[in-house]
Amino acid sequence: PDGFVFNMSVGYDLEGIKSPKVDAYIEGMKDATKTEVWGECLAWAKENLDRFANVDEAFVESVSPRVSSSVTESTLHGCPPDEIERIATYLITEKGLNTYIKCNPTLLGYDYARTRLDSLGFDYIAFDDKHFREDLQWADAVPMFERLIKLTSERGLAFGVKLTNTFPVDVTRKELPSEEMYMSGRSLFPLTIHLAHRISEQFDGKLRISYSGGADAQNIKDIYGAGIWPITMATTVLKPGGYERFSQIAGILAGAERKDDVDVAAVAALDEAVADAHKYHKPVKPIPAHKIDAPLPLTSCFTSPCRNGCPIEQDIPAYLAAVDEGRLDDALAIIAERNALPFITGNLCPHPCGTKCMRAFYEPEGAAIRSSKLKAARGGIDALLAKIKSEGAKPVVGASDHKVAVIGGGPAGLACAFFLSRAGADVTILERKDTLGGVARHIIPAFRIADEDIDRDVELCLAFGAKAQTGVEAKSVAELKAEGYTDVVVACGAWAPGHVGLEYGDEIDVLEFLGAAKKGEDLSSLGTDVAIVGAGNTAMDAARVAKRLPGVKNVRIVYRRTKRYMPADEEELAEALSEGVELCELLAPKGVRDGVLTCEKMVLGEPDESGRRSPVATGETVEVPATAVICAVGEHIEGGVYEAAGVQTDRRGRPAGVATGVEGVWAAGDCRRGPARFVDAIADAQEVAKEMLGVDFSAYAAANVRSGHESDCYARKGDLRLGCPKCAKDSGCLGCATVCEACCDVCPNRANVSITVPGLAQHQVVHVDGMCNECGNCAVFCPWSGRPFKDKLTLFWSAEDMGNSENQGFLPQADGTFLVRLDGKTAAYDVDDAACGLPEEARLTIKAVRDSYSYLLAK
Ligand SMILES: Cc1cc2nc3c(=O)[nH]c(=O)nc-3n(C[C@H](O)[C@H](O)[C@H](O)COP(=O)(O)OP(=O)(O)OC[C@H]3O[C@@H](n4cnc5c(N)ncnc54)[C@H](O)[C@@H]3O)c2cc1C
Ligand code: SF4
Ligand code: SF4
Ligand code: SF4
Repeated sequence: PDGFVFNMSVGYDLEGIKSPKVDAYIEGMKDATKTEVWGECLAWAKENLDRFANVDEAFVESVSPRVSSSVTESTLHGCPPDEIERIATYLITEKGLNTYIKCNPTLLGYDYARTRLDSLGFDYIAFDDKHFREDLQWADAVPMFERLIKLTSERGLAFGVKLTNTFPVDVTRKELPSEEMYMSGRSLFPLTIHLAHRISEQFDGKLRISYSGGADAQNIKDIYGAGIWPITMATTVLKPGGYERFSQIAGILAGAERKDDVDVAAVAALDEAVADAHKYHKPVKPIPAHKIDAPLPLTSCFTSPCRNGCPIEQDIPAYLAAVDEGRLDDALAIIAERNALPFITGNLCPHPCGTKCMRAFYEPEGAAIRSSKLKAARGGIDALLAKIKSEGAKPVVGASDHKVAVIGGGPAGLACAFFLSRAGADVTILERKDTLGGVARHIIPAFRIADEDIDRDVELCLAFGAKAQTGVEAKSVAELKAEGYTDVVVACGAWAPGHVGLEYGDEIDVLEFLGAAKKGEDLSSLGTDVAIVGAGNTAMDAARVAKRLPGVKNVRIVYRRTKRYMPADEEELAEALSEGVELCELLAPKGVRDGVLTCEKMVLGEPDESGRRSPVATGETVEVPATAVICAVGEHIEGGVYEAAGVQTDRRGRPAGVATGVEGVWAAGDCRRGPARFVDAIADAQEVAKEMLGVDFSAYAAANVRSGHESDCYARKGDLRLGCPKCAKDSGCLGCATVCEACCDVCPNRANVSITVPGLAQHQVVHVDGMCNECGNCAVFCPWSGRPFKDKLTLFWSAEDMGNSENQGFLPQADGTFLVRLDGKTAAYDVDDAACGLPEEARLTIKAVRDSYSYLLAK
């Protein structure tokens, strides 16, 4: 009986609150003894005691009919201050209630709200000062609260404020079919906590604060510790994991001391910590689209979206589970099935899989995919090499007929050698440099990847018997064919320098610069001020290397657009900036002379075909100190080998695909795509192995679904990492192909229900039409390009509802059959008859609803 506190909420105007209906509600909550529903509930509970553990008649009798003694006044935006005070006075004096007034962030004033949101990267959230002018003002609020505190203390009641209401902002990107929507969650926290700070200072901690505004497992302990309670959570429970989170939160707060007064210094500390907390900042770059480019299946929809984001479709949930269970040998075996370079990718992959990770909805870092891969690589490599040595290749039919020359011993060439030799082909790599590893070995700075890690990948790639000749420049395909090679894979990278196009002065090629720096050559001729032109990852590496050179004082990245549009990964940019590299945005270089790079000032114009806003010249110039200019605007493919072999290429020198169109000539990596990523090079190598030898990479695909581990998945969903995710004890993988149910977690109306269906491996999601108000929240989180409330098998409660909807779904009929609409056809079916004509998964699902979830069938 003491476990719940019920709080009433009333609003609109005093007349409405005094109306008989609302009055009966208030009085009934104060004392329910005389209400009809109270009697009904007691009777039902007593009749059903056997359905509950730990509940007996005495327990039921002990439940207090005094349901609530407190109320929150929640008025509409624009409600005049005297009306707010009249309502509160009525609730205190006439109704004798402990009273809270819900306040809006607008109390802070427009200028403060705008500046704070801008400083945290929420500059795109649009709102004007309308609500700030119309809502309660600080100058009116303070004396009003003082009067109400006096009024309640005279009566032995409590008065407080609830911070805050959601915040109306403009709909600018068709988020909702309205002009305004309510901001909440991460961006609301900085405003709400600042308001709490101001109020606690103004009232010296004596005004009680009830909190709502971005509270979650990560900050709730500090909020509560600051003497702010009760705390309401909404946004966090409307994300995948939803209500599962409450047990973690309860654990966090269990035993925490409850303070009577608000601790002013603790609230101030919380407020001040916002500026430095990554969690409250909007990422600089737009968040990539997380949806899989495929329609949502009607049944059996659980999937691992991360695999879809990974160009080599790694068996991510399978190997993360193995890492989490300490089975590093197994994990690396799973990884190496599809990934020939676990060390290089474990260090340097920009992990596009992460953009699709479901955990990223509530923790920006998502599951620890890349670092777990490196952990598996380090822990499992010796066992894997020993296994390869003892078991040898896994030959595919016909592979031994292929004698393959690979031109280039970079990541693409190495990966090709691994997959082709594993399948039983005779492979030789020809590399013009004295060591293997390509850009990773010769260009990328050692502070990003150690030589020892590259060595281990090389060892793995040669483990199935591929040979490597270094210091050998392959001249042509014809020469190699003449030597008896049946196939030639061109994997020589993209090394032809790009050009800034300076009107005067010299530029240095970025690969030349990084190569010289890696060899430890003397680069003192660069002088004190190095300008890097370009904004990709190569530019970030060049800037960070330059910053470390003795004699270099300033390093500036010069870019035509703004950082939002930079091709570099957010983390690479952040590293460069944290090391003191300066970013000069909206500048297009014209020429360099006498230590000065003259640039034209740009502004952002309309978006181009890539969706990025194009830079538009202003005619105004700016001077940037520059004793050296390094060009990092993208290298080109050297076309000589293709040309001599008769391979057709496009205007950027790229052949049509890994199969170049010339018999026995293949292409992989940067020399096929232009400057790309390691994982793309491996994807090309997989493709070469598939097309040349018919290699199948799906040995571990089924292991991504882990039947029997459903309860682990549920537990992890509700478990937010506290502190540093990188130091977390496990990968945090939710095992989405085993249990997704995100649409069920996030539905405020519980209109998507996950059910167990005998005969089907996955739980099935059924959408209950009558419980849905089409808020669309499930569509936001579903990983497929679909909307669960429209696309999942739908249970209807009436023929009218079915007629008003276009969803595929079913309606129970009086004769025990179901009216089912599928693929535009509607007919009655007997779901007990396996031959009734329904697709089996749909039939079994409807049958399971009838047999085990019959409470769903009617309103
Ligand atoms: C500075 C920089 C940083 C990068 N950082 C990242 C990163 O963090 N993450 C990421 O995923 N990607 C990154 N990349 C991209 C990544 O390095 C490339 O996509 C990858 O190296 C492509 O592999 P490749 O084998 O196709 O080409 P390369 O690595 O260029 O290897 C080609 C090899 O072919 C050899 N070769 C060329 N011609 C011949 C010939 N005629 N005969 C014999 N040998 C020849 C070359 O010497 C070279 O060893 C970065 C690139 C650069 C330049
Ligand atoms: S939580 Fe795990 S299975 Fe789900 S998307 Fe992320 S890595 Fe993949
Ligand atoms: S659209 Fe319907 S099913 Fe989806 S979250 Fe909203 S109420 Fe729930
Ligand atoms: S969100 Fe719902 S509909 Fe979408 S894949 Fe997950 S369980 Fe299926």
